[in-house]
Formats: sequence, C-alpha cells, structure tokens
Amino acid sequence: MPLTSQHLHAALRTVQDPDLHKDLVTLNMVKDVAIDGDAVSVTIELTTPACPMKDKIRSDIEQAIRAKADEVGEPLSTINVEFTADVRKPNQKLQDRDSPLPNVKHVIAVGAGKGGVGKSTISVNLAVGLAKHGAKVGILDGDIYGPSLPTMLGLDDLPPVAKENTLMPFPVHGVKAITLGKLVDPEKALVWRGPMAHGAFKQLATQTDWGDLDYLIVDLPPGTGDVPLTLAQLLPLSGAVVVCTPQKVAQDDARRAVRMFQQLGINVLGVVENMSYFVGDDGKQYDIFGRGGAEQMAANMNLPYLGAIPIHMQLRDNSDRGTPLENWDVEQLGNELDSLCQNLASQISIATMSGQFVQPTLSVS
Ligand code: ADP
Repeated sequence: MPLTSQHLHAALRTVQDPDLHKDLVTLNMVKDVAIDGDAVSVTIELTTPACPMKDKIRSDIEQAIRAKADEVGEPLSTINVEFTADVRKPNQKLQDRDSPLPNVKHVIAVGAGKGGVGKSTISVNLAVGLAKHGAKVGILDGDIYGPSLPTMLGLDDLPPVAKENTLMPFPVHGVKAITLGKLVDPEKALVWRGPMAHGAFKQLATQTDWGDLDYLIVDLPPGTGDVPLTLAQLLPLSGAVVVCTPQKVAQDDARRAVRMFQQLGINVLGVVENMSYFVGDDGKQYDIFGRGGAEQMAANMNLPYLGAIPIHMQLRDNSDRGTPLENWDVEQLGNELDSLCQNLASQISIATMSGQFVQPTLSVS
C-alpha cells in the first residue's frame, strides 16, 4: 500500500509539541506534507521563531514518520522537515477590541524591584535577541525617569522623527525602539509626578508607529510606581518578566515586583537572574553574589525561571557603546542570551495556547 498524506497526518498526530503538550495536528502546526517517491517533506509552523524545541520536534517527526512508513511497508530514503513560524495572538477577539495597538501581538513588561540590577540591559538584549531569531520586535523605554535606551541602543546621533501626531520608532539592531530620552530632556522628566508620567508613557506607547509586531518589550522604571499601573490599564499585556540579582536582599525586592504584577492581574512569565556569576580570565567561574538565588526565589514562588546572565565586561561595554548585537560575538554570553530569549518565547507561547492571557480588570481605590 503506498504511503499517503493521511498516513503522514496520522504519524504527526503522535508527535507532541514538548512545551504545549498537544500534538502537531491538533495545534494546527502542520502546514504542508508532500510525498515524492520514497522522500517525504513536512512543513511545520511554530508558534515562535525563537522556539527552543526545534531539534526535538524534528527528530520526533522523523521517528514517527519512519515508523509509519515501515508499518505501511514503504520505507523512506529521506524525510525533510522545514520550519516556519507565526507568533499566535493571545486572544484575537479580546486584543482587537481592547488594545490600542491591535497589530502588536504580545506586550511584555520587564520590571525589577529596584534600579541597577540590569533591567534595561535584559530588556535590550531580549528585544535584539528575539529579533535575531526572526521575530518582529519593538522596544519601548518606559523608564520615564531614567531612560537608558538612547545609550544602550546607540541612538545619540539619530534625530527623532515624527509624522503629524505619530512618532517614528528608531530602526536599530533589527528592532524598532522609542524612548522619551530622545524627545525631552531627561532632567526635566525627573520631576514629573504621576499624571505627567502617565501621559508621557501613554503617548509613547500609543502614538508610535509600531507597524506589525510579534513582541513589544517594555522596559519599566524600577520598583512599583505609576508606570506599571498605567501600562496595565492601557495595554493588554501577555505578561511580565522580573529581573533579579542573586543576593538575598535583591530577592526581597524582586518578590515585591512579582506581587505588584500579580496584584495588577499581570501574568509573570518568569524570572531572570542577572549578574549570576563572573567568569575570570582563567576561565574559572566566581559566584560573587551567590549564584542560584533568583532561581530559588522563582521556584519558591512557583514561577518559571528563564535563565542566568553572567557579569561580563563586554556586556557592560556593549551597553555603553550602544552595540548590543556584539554580545553574540562572545560565545558564552551569546548562548546564555539566546537561551533566555528562547525560554521567554516559549513561556509566551505556553501562556497563549493555554488561554492564560487575561486583560486585568483594575479597581483602584
Ligand atoms: P537597571 O535598568 O536595572 O537600572 P541597567 O540595565 O541600566 O540596570 O544596568 C546597570 C549597569 O550595570 C549598566 O552599566 C549595565 O551595563 C551594567 N550591567 C547590567 N548587567 C550586567 C552584566 N550582566 N554584566 C556586566 N554589566 C552589567
């Protein structure tokens, strides 16, 4: 009996997406199957281009199809698995109705309990890293009081551009970026109180010409102030990432940030341990701040742990020079950043597919 596309679909029904725990057919990820003699090709549409499970999915597909072909009595010479990706929207109806940014699929806030833990550094590298994987990414500097993006993205020599009432984001390093730091004197913003910060943030978020985005990363101000509240009221968030350094005192602050997001009804997608360890010239790793502290905190709070970024001189240097892509020239750093981006992308897919996405209903008294 010849092998048919029904056989292939039956085989693909036995292959699960390891993150989403459903089979590829049910998840509507099988975009094409073709049989040409004893060669088969399959096209799978992933839920994110930064999927960390590609190799596993590929080998599971090959195994399942080969087993089916043997069962049918038509052994195969080659099985070609191709991947495309389409980031799924959290909840089409809800997004289109409620979001002032209907063409942005996921808004992800990056927060921290306090300043200086590397929240902006992580935001920038998440944005650039997700874009490197092929996603359409924007980054919004929501740190109204201390915008870092002009420096970290090297925007200093670029003039701001506006068309009528719309701000044009800066197209840099594969992402679209906007920051108040390029629009007003940051010294002035320092004295803004709630309503002004609220207004400025709202304008930045909603009056920027983002176009179509898979992910919009929002670098929040440190702590638990007005901006996260504004953000939660303004945009349907897919979730938040909390950046933390490993020390006990840092964890206490991060825990407060987690609680703040939870109180705002925002799903915490995971915790990042920044400045986790230091690698000396001798290659030896030093756990300066007590590596693993943030991971422990994530476990205690039942939150996903997204990964650890070491203290690295090049990371600081590339931030100061506005050249984030050069972080990927340092092998170990690039690997850790990639794994961070992939873990976040899969947590977003998991939350999306399991319907965890909810627009918070806030009652503020
Ligand atoms: P935050 O946004 O939390 O205030 P930043 O991202 O601005 O923190 O980081 C503070 C400083 O620490 C910056 O100079 C940044 O380059 C540096 N930094 C952050 N993370 C690292 C790291 N893992 N290795 C080296 N320097 C880092």
